[in-house]
Amino acid sequence: MVLFDSHAHYDDKRFEAEYEGGAEAALRDARAAGVLWIVNSGADIETSRASIALAESVRGADDMPEIFASVGIHPTETGRYESLDGAMEELYTLARSGCVRAIGEIGLDYHYPDTDRETQKKFFRAQLRLAGELGMPVVIHDRDAHGDVFDILREHRGIKTLLHCYSGSAEMARQYASWGVYMSFGGTLTFKNAEKTREAAGVVPRELLLLETDAPYLAPTPHRGKINSSKLMTYTAEALGKLWCESAEAAAEAAAENSKRFYGIEQ
Ligand SMILES: [Zn+2]
Repeated sequence: MVLFDSHAHYDDKRFEAEYEGGAEAALRDARAAGVLWIVNSGADIETSRASIALAESVRGADDMPEIFASVGIHPTETGRYESLDGAMEELYTLARSGCVRAIGEIGLDYHYPDTDRETQKKFFRAQLRLAGELGMPVVIHDRDAHGDVFDILREHRGIKTLLHCYSGSAEMARQYASWGVYMSFGGTLTFKNAEKTREAAGVVPRELLLLETDAPYLAPTPHRGKINSSKLMTYTAEALGKLWCESAEAAAEAAAENSKRFYGIEQ
C-alpha cells in the first residue's frame, strides 16, 4: 500500500516516552508499512522550527518517509505571543525554508475556554493573510468552532485550504467542497461511534479527500487510546475503501495523489 500522511506531529514528546525507539523508529516503521510522505505540522514557533529540522534530518534516507513541514501557530497557543507582528515575521522567515509546504495548523479552538476567542481570530486572520502573501496553502484546525471558522474562511476563498481532521457536518462538507476546499480524515473514520464523520467523508468529492494520522493523537481502532503513528494508517485506508466500495490500496493511492496535489509535491 502507498500512503501519504498529510498531518502528523513527530516532534511530539510522546514518541520518545511511548514508542519503542522513539520518533526515529516510528518513522522507519512507517516507511516499511508503505508511508512514503509525511507532512509534519507545527503548532507554535518552536514546533514549526522542529518540523523543518525533522524534514531536513531525514532528507535522502532510503529507509525513511520523505518529510515536509507546515509552519503556524495553533489557536490554543496564540495567547503566548505578545506581539502579533513579531510572531508573523518569524513565521514568514520559517515559511521560506524549502521543505515548508503550507501555513498550519491555524484556526479556532473553542473546546477549552483558556484562550481568548478574539486573540484566536486575530492570529487566524493574520496567518491567512500571510499565506496569501506567500502564495501558500493553509491547514486548518477547527474544534467546536465550525460557524466562526466557516465565516472567516469565506472571507479568504482564494487560498488553497485543507480542513484537517474534519469534524463538521455533511452539509457543511458539501458547502466547503463547492469552494474547492480539501478535507482530511484520520483514525476517527474507524471509530464505531463516528457515524457522523463517515457520513461527512461520504459526501466529500473523491479528488478533495486526504488521509492523515494527527499522530501521536487519535489512533484508529483497534489501537484507539494508545499512541498513534503513520504505520497505523492502513486501518484508516481500509475504512475509506469500505466507504468508497473499493480496495484499501486504491483508496490510499487516490488520497495520496490528492495530498501531493494539495501540498504541491511533484512525483
Ligand atoms: Zn495536528
